[in-house]
Amino acid sequence: MMPIRIIRRLLPITAMVLSLSGLQAQNMHEHVYYLASDELAGRFPATRGDTLAARYISGLFERYGLQPFEGRFIHPFTIRDSVPCLNVVAMLNGSDPSMRHEAIVVGAHFDHLGYGGPGSGSRRPDTTAIHYGADDNASGTALMVELARLFTAVPTRRTLIFAAFGAEEQGLGGSKALASNTALCERTVLMLNFDMVGHLRNHALSIGGSGTFLHADSLLLGLGRRHGLSLALSPQGYGPSDHTSFYAKGLPVLFITTGGTLVYHTPDDRPELINFGGMDTIARFAFDLIRTVANSTQRPVFQEAGPAEGSHARTRLKVTLGIMPDVTGTQSGGLRADMVVPGKPAHRAGMKTGDLIVSINGQNISNIDEYMQVLSGLSPEHEIRVGVVRNGQRIDLTVIP
Ligand SMILES: [Zn+2]
Repeated sequence: MMPIRIIRRLLPITAMVLSLSGLQAQNMHEHVYYLASDELAGRFPATRGDTLAARYISGLFERYGLQPFEGRFIHPFTIRDSVPCLNVVAMLNGSDPSMRHEAIVVGAHFDHLGYGGPGSGSRRPDTTAIHYGADDNASGTALMVELARLFTAVPTRRTLIFAAFGAEEQGLGGSKALASNTALCERTVLMLNFDMVGHLRNHALSIGGSGTFLHADSLLLGLGRRHGLSLALSPQGYGPSDHTSFYAKGLPVLFITTGGTLVYHTPDDRPELINFGGMDTIARFAFDLIRTVANSTQRPVFQEAGPAEGSHARTRLKVTLGIMPDVTGTQSGGLRADMVVPGKPAHRAGMKTGDLIVSINGQNISNIDEYMQVLSGLSPEHEIRVGVVRNGQRIDLTVIP
């Protein structure tokens, strides 16, 4: 791990709170239902649904009166050399002539898995059906677009750039394309990424990247309290979504998510399951957060928080336990199973959602990297001894792959 740069004697950014009243939940409801509709068919890159989604988002930016980014809203790029994909990017110029050259990027990916199928990333690869991607990530897209609308009425001193990314599910395609814009990165003081914000449960919101700038923790926790959210913070700048592309450029990032669910990457990720009231709370929190950072005379001071590249990003495993780990790494001393999929090996062995995995075959597990490393060395012929901690008690499970 690289050394963490510490800069002393800088004052924390002081939180501002403005109460919103309005149409947020209703608007986000409309956006999610459209983006996750049969017509858009899972928004797979280079399909009609993908293009319709991009046009819908650019239409909203235009209607709300945002300015096109570098002369246009729709920014084409390609993945795997030739597959045409789209980003949609808009701006709200800062009100302060001495600060408006600095910008905050607010992003969310709008693509999803289309009809799924083998190799698509679907957790039911044997089923060919529309993967609606309501939570992943019509929810984050709707929230980002709604923030854009709200900020048209409340100018900020720094510039705000709103980005809907294509091809995230194909390896962060859209965010890598935008982060390759050097002029943009040079003016960016913070990148916020919303990915899967539609399943708020027990007011618990996960935020990754809290170690990527100075005093982020106190700012976030203070705002979380005011909005009735209990935040699980994790410092790492690297993570399984688009903020990673900006952290890799040495920029402060925040990754905001309500985390994994049983419907993740299945055709059941549908708009009916979205908690729009929860999204409204997250939008209010995010509005105050962005407004605070965008108006503060003190810009976020970058700190390194973990490696810029994950070793496990594209590892193919011969053995899987059938759990969804806590990808934001909010719990230390082990890896929390955020979800245990019924009928899969871990579930059959008695693992429960919330269990903290602390060892596999006698090797200690303290984070997702160690977990992936140990898992990649396992073969499906042998049973696996998994040590978990549940309610403070150590339990040993025997998992048959
Ligand atoms: Zn996804």
